[in-house]
Amino acid sequence: MHRTGPWLRAAEGAMLLGPDGVPAPTVFAEMSALAAATGAINLGQGFPDEDGPAAVLDAAVDAIRQGVNQYPPGRGTPELRAAIAEHQAHWYGLEVDPDREVLVTAGATEALAATLLAFVEPGDEVVTFEPFYDAYGALVRLAGGTHVTVPLTAPDFLPDEATLRAAFSDRTRVVLVNTPHNPTGRVLPREVLATVVELAEQYDALIVTDEVYEHLTFTTPHVPIATLPGAAERTVTISSAGKTFSTTGWKIGWLTATAPLVEAIVSVKQYLTFVNGAPFQPAVAAGLRLPDEVFHGIAQDLSSKHELLADGLRSAGFDVLRPDGGYFVLADTRPLGHEDARDFCLRLPAAAGVVGVPVSAFVRPDHAPGYRSLVRFAFCKRRDVLAEAVNRLAALAPTD
Ligand SMILES: *Cc1c(COP(=O)(O)O)cnc(C)c1O
Repeated sequence: MHRTGPWLRAAEGAMLLGPDGVPAPTVFAEMSALAAATGAINLGQGFPDEDGPAAVLDAAVDAIRQGVNQYPPGRGTPELRAAIAEHQAHWYGLEVDPDREVLVTAGATEALAATLLAFVEPGDEVVTFEPFYDAYGALVRLAGGTHVTVPLTAPDFLPDEATLRAAFSDRTRVVLVNTPHNPTGRVLPREVLATVVELAEQYDALIVTDEVYEHLTFTTPHVPIATLPGAAERTVTISSAGKTFSTTGWKIGWLTATAPLVEAIVSVKQYLTFVNGAPFQPAVAAGLRLPDEVFHGIAQDLSSKHELLADGLRSAGFDVLRPDGGYFVLADTRPLGHEDARDFCLRLPAAAGVVGVPVSAFVRPDHAPGYRSLVRFAFCKRRDVLAEAVNRLAALAPTD
């Protein structure tokens, strides 16, 4: 097969192609394939196996029946943009103009892609914490930027302040924050966010914040960085319906920012997907307007699922690093005698019939040592599935 044409340079340069010229398989695909081949319970990939609120699902069915099946407006349906603005005001006291300061996107992923492509030029630096959601590294490279990372290290997964300050320079164009954080589950404390805002002001950087787990916190409340003094005018706030309403396949996301920032992002977004998900947009609008108790119920349900899995992992002999929110819990394999989580994850289907993903998938290869023994397990699964996973994991417990 011919595979070294100059037309492949972009994908090669962004390190998206593997050495054999096919897309480098992600560890998620690798571990999901392993789960399918072995019949193991897949706690690797973070998608729910149960439907979210019926009101949201019914609204999408109704919209399809009512003929909401053509291209929606470029910035999203007025109804959804209004619901997003109401949501920001209701939950956080953030005032955004639904017509000029809101953009509906094909998931949080397109919001991230359009934002980075709009603002990052070759040579610009993008600061993120590490571990990081895998798309961040790929998107920074596609934009031609340089990825600078600040480690979050076990057990508390907070950044060292001096290291955070040292990551910024005159080349810093964007600081990309994710809270609640995937994969650690950490809700970044206000002091850390305040330091990020201070540094962004000092170096005139744009703040991009990925808040897709905003409603899925257990006890520590989520603080949007845009609510901090001085932040709103330089912040692009990104979220998505997928995680909150268990509709990851719908790919309805959004961003809010000042009108000029939204204009610049629209200029890119209109040539990525243009628009998406017409009948899902009114359904997500209905979801965002559900009573507060529904959101609290979703978080409580997830919190109790987290307890179930975390307790099971501890009984099986792992050190468990408890999350503040999100879909995932990290477990350290060293007490079970394993230093290398990747190797451990490859054996886990045979040893216990469960699949997880090594945290090394969320760090750059040369930074992996500090995270080598950590595995990420998803608890956004049915209770009976988690109970069965816990049963199976008990087989790992040392018998003494
Ligand atoms: C799942 C996830 C996304 C992707 O959201 P979509 O709406 O599915 O595009 C983005 N960021 C983080 C941290 C995630 O966990």
